[in-house]
Amino acid sequence: MGLLALGTALEWPEAKKKAHQVRQWGIEQLLANWRRMKGKERDALLWGDEVEYLVVALDDASKKARLSLAQAEILKSLALDEANWKPDESQHGDGDHDGEHPPHFHPEFGRFMLEATPGRPWGIGFKDLLKVESNMKWRREVAKAHMAPNESPITLTTFPRLGTKDDYIQPYYPPSGPALRSQFVPDEIANPHIRFPTLAGNIRSRRGRKVELNVPIYKDKNTPVPFKDPTVNYDLHNWPEDDDVRNGAAKDDHVYMDAMAFGMGSCCLQITFQAKNMTEGRKLYDQLSPLGPILLALTAATPIYKGFLVDTDVRWNQISAAVDDRTPEELGEVPLKNDRWRIPKSRYASNSTYISQDPRLRPEYLDPDLVVDEDIKKRLIDGGMDDLLATHFAHLFIRDPLVIFSEDLEELDVNKGDHFENLQSTNWQHMRFKPPPSEKDDIGWRVEFRSMEIQITDFENAAFSIFMVLITRAILSFDLNFYIPIQRTTENMETAHVRNAVLDSKFYFRKDPFPKRVPRTHGSTVSANPSSAVNTPPSSPPLGPVESEYELMTIAEIINGCPEGSFPGLIPLVESYLNSVNVDVETRCFLASYLDLIRKRADGTLWTGAKWIREFVTHHPSYKQDSVVSEEICYDLVKAVEEVTVNEGRNGRIGWELLRGKKN
Ligand code: ADP
Ligand code: MG
Ligand code: MG
Ligand code: MG
Ligand code: MG
Ligand code: MG
Repeated sequence: MGLLALGTALEWPEAKKKAHQVRQWGIEQLLANWRRMKGKERDALLWGDEVEYLVVALDDASKKARLSLAQAEILKSLALDEANWKPDESQHGDGDHDGEHPPHFHPEFGRFMLEATPGRPWGIGFKDLLKVESNMKWRREVAKAHMAPNESPITLTTFPRLGTKDDYIQPYYPPSGPALRSQFVPDEIANPHIRFPTLAGNIRSRRGRKVELNVPIYKDKNTPVPFKDPTVNYDLHNWPEDDDVRNGAAKDDHVYMDAMAFGMGSCCLQITFQAKNMTEGRKLYDQLSPLGPILLALTAATPIYKGFLVDTDVRWNQISAAVDDRTPEELGEVPLKNDRWRIPKSRYASNSTYISQDPRLRPEYLDPDLVVDEDIKKRLIDGGMDDLLATHFAHLFIRDPLVIFSEDLEELDVNKGDHFENLQSTNWQHMRFKPPPSEKDDIGWRVEFRSMEIQITDFENAAFSIFMVLITRAILSFDLNFYIPIQRTTENMETAHVRNAVLDSKFYFRKDPFPKRVPRTHGSTVSANPSSAVNTPPSSPPLGPVESEYELMTIAEIINGCPEGSFPGLIPLVESYLNSVNVDVETRCFLASYLDLIRKRADGTLWTGAKWIREFVTHHPSYKQDSVVSEEICYDLVKAVEEVTVNEGRNGRIGWELLRGKKN
């Protein structure tokens, strides 16, 4: 949002010299804004989704699917259209969207990507939930109307043959270029706006080598053992970074990739919620955090990289590696000398701390080893911020700013947020706490849920968006408690990568989500546990060990409830919430079809996108059981995906049938 100002972007050695200044200015902007906005109250509940697309070009004559690099032209044409929009004209479709604002389209890292958001955020009313799916379909139609006839927006997370030797991009450019220095993809694969090549180039420079993505290969009957990625060239000498593979960057039994585009070129589904005030926003941030890995596993849709089936189902760790700017010292590969600390996670990672001033947040849930910039934390606390929130931002600000425009360093303006946003928007955690941007915009405290994979059909995308909205309503309405130690969420995030984790893996989850009832008698038990007596008011029941509060559960148990266990299930919680409010029968039925998708995906009746794609590939007549996703399979897959979404748009819910598990 709003980061595309033009200017002179500093290359890494120069940017590094200014990093401290940007951090300090960013913190002053944060403090000034926090002071102005911390009391902002009674904001309406608003929420909005973000859907990301790949733009594919299908060549039916030669049976090739390619990525189209037409992002700039498409966006320009879309923006013209949006500027000329007249609400009562039906020039943009079938007229079903009278009164709705035209969708917004945004650029993304990949020059083959688009992002679309609703023209206005959605409101609290149930009627708005009914518009989401048709609005998403409308976005596709509008986008498609601005593309060449053979181009389409599709919602695969990744393009199956990105980075192969095919002519998979249109127009074609060979690898490689000075920004990415990839041996697989050209610089032209990325948005040419100076921000993006600078981001990629500075990550590489800061790191001291190219980014390194190694995804375990899916071992099929005829996959070579050991598998040595046959697409890696060990004999290149164009860039110093060509040494990376000679230094062991490509691992056996893995598909190796070396550029930001392999991660940031993936599509996801994000939801932003506006809270009624900062306190509620902080609560939602904490309570939604443990759901991140669960929704990642449920939305799994990424089983192919660089022309190979891989043994993982989701994109997350690949994006994490694709923007990992940590130095060897920060990674712990060599002793600390010039850098300030070892950092356990990439700047794209699950979040590492909680921020709510909730009495139920036990100190044991926090990470005792969280790395924070103590000077920044002190500045925030001296400025009046509380410890938890100061810790959160002092953790985000351990990173260096990556893209710095020299024009912005002349004078500090604490009425702006540009330096703060510089750090904030390049900390890609699975939850993001978004302060109001400025006084004049009248936008409140928001929380973004960022872990979900984009789904092939808009029925699914709407279902997951609406499910998350209803969960936030249930959390607030029943004051639910999903706290577990934050490190368990980090572990769950890893678990979500396992092939078929949705059915085969177990995740740490809290057993009892309900607020504690105050017991009638108390006293001896409280004093028997002196440490809890110190922290809790006398009427609270004694707290047991943290480990007894959660256990390993399957996704089915988390979503649908445990038959014997204590966890009631997220869907039953949502149903209870719906029972507690006035919803007319028609709306309830509509919502039920979305909840049914979530329920059945959790219990295995319906497949994830990852499973469907795997089945498509392994049952393709030309598949040789060697993990290779050929150009022909890629074309047929993209074509099938395109047909599903188009038919779904035309005929209602064809995509629903497809994801029931029917063979292609
Ligand atoms: P970013 O890319 O920084 O996450 P975007 O502007 O692309 O942000 O998307 C933000 C989402 O938040 C959109 O779906 C938008 O409709 C929604 N949104 C905008 N304003 C608000 C608001 N005040 N409260 C909640 N959601 C909002
Ligand atoms: Mg964005
Ligand atoms: Mg966005
Ligand atoms: Mg985006
Ligand atoms: Mg976003
Ligand atoms: Mg954090």
